[in-house]
Amino acid sequence: MRIENEIKLDFKDVLLRPKRSTLGSRANVELDRTYTYRYAKLTMPVVPIIAANMDTVGTVEMAQALAGHRLLTALHKHYPVEALVDFFHPDAVADADRTLRAADHAFYSLGILDRDLDKFKTVWSRTGGAIRWVCIDVANGYTEAFMDFVKRFRDSYPEVVLMAGNVVTADMTEALILAGADIVKVGIGPGSVCTTRRMTGVGYPQLSAIIECADAAHGLNGHICGDGGCTVPGDVVKAFGGGADFTMLGGMLAAHDEAGGELVVQDGQAYRRFYGMSSEEAMTRYAGGVARYRAAEGKSTLLPARGPVDATVQEILGGLRSACTYVGARRLRDLSKCTTFVRVTQQINEVFGRS
Ligand code: 5GP
Repeated sequence: MRIENEIKLDFKDVLLRPKRSTLGSRANVELDRTYTYRYAKLTMPVVPIIAANMDTVGTVEMAQALAGHRLLTALHKHYPVEALVDFFHPDAVADADRTLRAADHAFYSLGILDRDLDKFKTVWSRTGGAIRWVCIDVANGYTEAFMDFVKRFRDSYPEVVLMAGNVVTADMTEALILAGADIVKVGIGPGSVCTTRRMTGVGYPQLSAIIECADAAHGLNGHICGDGGCTVPGDVVKAFGGGADFTMLGGMLAAHDEAGGELVVQDGQAYRRFYGMSSEEAMTRYAGGVARYRAAEGKSTLLPARGPVDATVQEILGGLRSACTYVGARRLRDLSKCTTFVRVTQQINEVFGRS
C-alpha cells in the first residue's frame, strides 16, 4: 500500500485569478478551435464542448441543436443501425442550406465488444464512410482489451478523429495516444449520475486529472477531453483553464427538450428523467437487467424540465467569453496560458439557495 500526499484538486477547490488586460468586449472573444490532430487529418473549426454519449443527453435532436453553435455531440450507443445510417448518410441533409450539418458535428460511440464493432462496420459501409468522429467508450480504460481495441480500430480507420477513454492518469493517456487515440477522454467518477466512487472507492479529482493528462497528451501532440463533473459554466471554464482541449457535459445539457429524457409531470411540475449509462435503469432498458456479477454504478434522477437547449448553450458560451475577458484571453485557445488558479475553501455563496 502507498499513499500519495500531493494535493489533488476538483473544480470546487479553485477559482481563476483575474488579470489586467487590454481586452475590450467579451463579444470579440473567439471560442472556435481548429485543432491539428495527431492522426486524423480533419481541420474544422468547432467550439470544443461535447454533449455526453448518454441516451438522456447525446441524441440526434441534441446534435441538430448544438451543431448550429458548432458544438459537438457524442451520440449514445443504443441507436439502431437504420437510425444511424439515416443520420450519418451524406444525402441525409434535412435542410439543404444547412452548412453546419449535424452529422459533421457528431461522434459515433461504441464499446469494445464484437457486436459493437460489427454494428460500426455496417454503418460505416452503408454511409460510405461518412463518419468523422468516433468515441470508443468504456467505464474503465485501464484494461489491455481496451488498448488492443483502440490499436486495431486506428489501423482500420486511419482517417477518423478517434476519442478513447476513460482514464485519469498521465501514463494511460500517453499509452492511448501512442495506441492511436487523437483525443483521450479523462474522468473516472466525477459524473453527476455516476456512483463509481461510492460503489468502488476508485476515482481521481477531476481538475487534477485534466491538468496531468493534458500535460502528458500535449507532449505527444495529442488532445484530451475532460469528461464529467461540470455543474455550472464556471466549471467548464476551469476545465479549459486546466488544459482540457474539449469538455464533455452530461448533467448540464440533460433535461432539455432535445435531450431525450422521458417527460414526467408531478404536481403540475414538468420533469425529465436523467440516468447514468451504468445505472439499473439503463441496464434494464438495454441489457435486460443488471447482470448478477456486477452492481450498478450509476443513478437515475428527475430534473425539472428546462425547455430548449439553446438558452443553456448561450449561458455556457457567455460564461466562457466573460472568463476570457477577466483573465485577458482573446481566444479560448489562450485561456489555459492566461489561467492562474487560486485554491479556495469557499467558492459560491449559497446563503439564498442555489440558482
Ligand atoms: P456529468 O457532466 O453529468 O457530470 O458527467 C457526464 C459523464 O458521466 C459521462 O460523459 C460519462 O463519462 C459519465 N457517466 C454517465 N453515466 C454513468 C454511469 O452510469 N456511471 C458512471 N460511473 N459514469 C457515468
